[in-house]
Amino acid sequence: MTEERVRRPKVNDLGQHEILCADCEQVLLVMMQTEESDKVNKIKVTNCPKCGGESWVNSLVGKYFMAQAEGMIIREMDFDEETNIMKVRMM
Ligand SMILES: [Zn+2]
Repeated sequence: MTEERVRRPKVNDLGQHEILCADCEQVLLVMMQTEESDKVNKIKVTNCPKCGGESWVNSLVGKYFMAQAEGMIIREMDFDEETNIMKVRMM
């Protein structure tokens, strides 16, 4: 009972995670955690605007809000059901 009460709002405990290009280390996406959960998100970014490269597969646990890094524009997103990877293609 008491434990319920001390549970802090998770939104203020933001974990932020940057997804970088594996080739040139450009920050492509910023993932902001909004909630803790068991959900596993696998994200891979392709077509880095700087070098044409791609990120590694980033595996994040929890609920996340995805934002474009400064100057980056997402062109399309495609969820691959076989691998459970969200592929994000940049402009
Ligand atoms: Zn790059």
